[in-house]
Amino acid sequence: MANNSTDTLSNTVDITQDIAKKSSQQPSKNKRLYFPIDYKQIELFKDVNPLEWEDWHWQIKNRIRRKEELQQLINLTFEEEKGLKLSDSRLSVAITPYWATMIDPNNPKCPIRKQMVPVASEFQVGNHEMRDPCAEDRDSPAHGLVHRYPDRVLLLATEQCASYCRHCTRRRLVGEKKEIPSVNKLDAAYDYIRSNKKIRDVLISGGDPLMLEDEALENIFKNIRSISHVEFLRIGTRVPATLPQRITENLLKIFKKYGPIWMSIHFNHPKEITKRCRQACEMLSDAGIPLGSQTVLLKDINDKPFVMRKLFHDLLKIRVRPYYIYQCDPVKGTAHFRTPVAVGINIIEKLRGYTSGYAVPTYVIDAPGGGGKIPIGPNYILSQAKGRYTLRNYKGKIYTYLE
Ligand code: SF4
Repeated sequence: MANNSTDTLSNTVDITQDIAKKSSQQPSKNKRLYFPIDYKQIELFKDVNPLEWEDWHWQIKNRIRRKEELQQLINLTFEEEKGLKLSDSRLSVAITPYWATMIDPNNPKCPIRKQMVPVASEFQVGNHEMRDPCAEDRDSPAHGLVHRYPDRVLLLATEQCASYCRHCTRRRLVGEKKEIPSVNKLDAAYDYIRSNKKIRDVLISGGDPLMLEDEALENIFKNIRSISHVEFLRIGTRVPATLPQRITENLLKIFKKYGPIWMSIHFNHPKEITKRCRQACEMLSDAGIPLGSQTVLLKDINDKPFVMRKLFHDLLKIRVRPYYIYQCDPVKGTAHFRTPVAVGINIIEKLRGYTSGYAVPTYVIDAPGGGGKIPIGPNYILSQAKGRYTLRNYKGKIYTYLE
């Protein structure tokens, strides 16, 4: 840990100087329009020096976890206070100081705030909600492993995340109350992958695998890459959005050593794409990691076509290819986040044809009960007869295609 901290600090001096320079620019008079705000303007962080701020270990150590800390940052509503009280015994609360700078302290509808600050509705169980809607536990042949599709597996490397999303599908697993971290119990998972020659793709997720120290992550990569039939690795993470300081030169060196590595990053709202986040994504792209995004469709956060369009356009600008929009899974305590399926279909309808194909992800429902991802979208085939398809284009004009 000590060595890592030193690396992190030395590797981020340039970034820190750059950030310090930007911080000296005139702050906006209208802060609501200019989040993230300079952390020096926040009472809780005003004495933090830029090297500490850029140290990911410092960010983790100083996460906001308790009501008393959060109260110093935002004006809590009654619903939020109640949610914080109830969350004590449920999904952990943790918000990185970096993420906290993006929260609007006076607006409970702030999309950044709603994703991380619990509210009382989280503790009501909605219709059809389940503990493990995607039946991952059922399809787990070894600790930390989910095998659903023929040629790929999901490795749950850790239970921890930088910040905990209130809509999390794996809320049954994530958090920091476990005594033995998953990473110490993965030998059976490696054996399973080794003995199944059809597995060519391993997705490492969790929790967030980038919460692991460099050595632990390298150890996982080494174990999996020693299996000759595994062709490449994928990482599922939210860290470039919640903790961009974690993307260090040392981490990039490890990625390069064990590539090809692809990365799917969880982004839900355009406000998450800050200059600091862009810097982290550019470091990853420049190191040869292809980046894709995963977005959860969330009520009153990103359920408007213009919000999604802005998100996907901004992602393309930082070289992240919009990959999936997920219908919010029916996991217990997330009913207040869920929209009708028609909302997602309408978003795709308003994107396809109206913007670059690269900005149109696939909208999917992860089938309850463990059926896997099923693509959902507008219907462009109006009728089908032998040798003839009647189609509509994005503007509703009708065309015939003859085979
Ligand atoms: S980062 Fe992912 S695993 Fe962690 S709380 Fe958020 S959605 Fe869940």
